[in-house]
Amino acid sequence: MQRGLKKVVSQTPQHLVIVGAGISGLAAAWSAQKNASECNLALRITVLEASGEVGGKAQSTTHAGGWTTEAGPTGFLDNEPVLDRLIDIAGLDKLPAQAAAARRFVVQGGRLREIHAHPLKFARSGILSPLGLARILRERWVPKIPAGQDESVWHFAARRLGKQAADRLIQPMVLGVFAGDAKQLSLPAAFPRMAELEQTYGSLLRAMGALRKARKSSAGQAGAAGGPAGPGGTLTSFAGGLQSLPTALAERAPFEILRHAAVQTIERDELGRWVVQHGAQPDALRADALVLATEGHVAARLCQGVIPEAAGLLAQTPHPGVQVVSLGYAGAAAQRFPTAFGCLIPRTEGPRVLGFLWDSHLFMGRAPDGHVLVRALLGGAVDEEVNAWSPERLMDQVRADLRSLFGIDEAPVFQTHTPWQHAIPQYTLGHLQRVAQIEEAIAAGTHGGAPLWLAGNSLYGVAFTKAAARGWQCGEQAVRAL
Ligand SMILES: Cc1cc2nc3c(=O)[nH]c(=O)nc-3n(C[C@H](O)[C@H](O)[C@H](O)COP(=O)(O)OP(=O)(O)OC[C@H]3O[C@@H](n4cnc5c(N)ncnc54)[C@H](O)[C@@H]3O)c2cc1C
Repeated sequence: MQRGLKKVVSQTPQHLVIVGAGISGLAAAWSAQKNASECNLALRITVLEASGEVGGKAQSTTHAGGWTTEAGPTGFLDNEPVLDRLIDIAGLDKLPAQAAAARRFVVQGGRLREIHAHPLKFARSGILSPLGLARILRERWVPKIPAGQDESVWHFAARRLGKQAADRLIQPMVLGVFAGDAKQLSLPAAFPRMAELEQTYGSLLRAMGALRKARKSSAGQAGAAGGPAGPGGTLTSFAGGLQSLPTALAERAPFEILRHAAVQTIERDELGRWVVQHGAQPDALRADALVLATEGHVAARLCQGVIPEAAGLLAQTPHPGVQVVSLGYAGAAAQRFPTAFGCLIPRTEGPRVLGFLWDSHLFMGRAPDGHVLVRALLGGAVDEEVNAWSPERLMDQVRADLRSLFGIDEAPVFQTHTPWQHAIPQYTLGHLQRVAQIEEAIAAGTHGGAPLWLAGNSLYGVAFTKAAARGWQCGEQAVRAL
């Protein structure tokens, strides 16, 4: 039993309703289920999902011919204990990424350049000019800013590492994680580890030295200490793709999951309970506690009538669209991609694609033998225009970018396209302050009535692991409150 959870015996089941069956909603439901049974709380749990399947952004599809594509997350870093618990519940075996996942590229001057961890190899990679490299060496002496001060990711990087490194390394990294604009995103919200390392070590170079030492002293734990961009861990998925986890969690669920049950409104009844109107049944559900595990913009709409202050703040987080195009190549064309994770493309380089991932180099079984599965991401906060393009125009653009970077003229032997209208939340400047204000508004707006929590990835971390961890925490808190 979690610390702080009361041992209670209740006869009438309390009703917890969870909106959204992505990883955060399912984690919330399983956590509530486990915690309630440990403290003998009679709890009815209902998960309401708008679409016909569980998983949310985790959408893995196995196609004829031996292709397995991901429309959303590629994998997760196996450093989150909540994920391990969920995998255990699901009864799945993890599939760690292949060694190729360690090799990453960035485009500079129209060419792919490998991002080496070794300083000499990095210096020779051609990513930065001699002046840009010299500027990085001065990083140790750049003073840190006062703790708690907000700053954009780009300004942080330019201040510490110089403008060239901010443009050629950090800005593409932000494309890779957020499909976002480094000048708009808040460093302490988007990359809290970098902000923390600056405060702890006074310098990123000093921090890297200390982390390298820590790694060496923990034998066999290579990579576990992480780097400045975030905590370490092995990129992980499952044989059938990442959606295998939510699917297995739903199959084993002892609670009710209603699909095609888009929640339209939430209101309060005269007793202060939640009245949840959804599309699967004419009668509204009554809930003693509510978890909104949807995207932030949906939570904003649902909260509008009941906690308008929170709704207004939630709506300030942009969720730009992203286009995901997967292409399969055979023969000589397949050989032109390096055996690696992928490459990121700074906006000044010309191609519209934000980055390419070589999915079949990352995980076994994603493409037929002798073929390569390539994924291109377009759009995001830096190129919203492409979200209005036709699928044909997108495909032509991706092929033009493949031609210019890899010299590939051949037609792909396989292709799919997933348009996300609202993909990844953007933690823009002021995000942490808004989160604190949202928490206050929810506390004030639910005082004396049934409680409500916001799960999902729009507030506390955009990654799959963070969404799962936040969901699990909401489930624990719901049981504690009931
Ligand atoms: C293209 C892309 C690539 C990504 N790559 C990675 C990656 O490589 N690694 C990583 O860690 N993270 C990645 N992410 C982020 C990751 O996908 C998310 O962190 C995670 O999937 C969020 O899970 P969630 O449950 O919070 O939300 P979601 O997965 O968005 O689930 C929300 C659910 O709520 C449902 N819903 C919405 N409205 C309603 C309603 N009114 N009523 C009922 N249900 C509703 C939706 O249908 C959905 O099922 C990526 C995201 C995208 C879009």
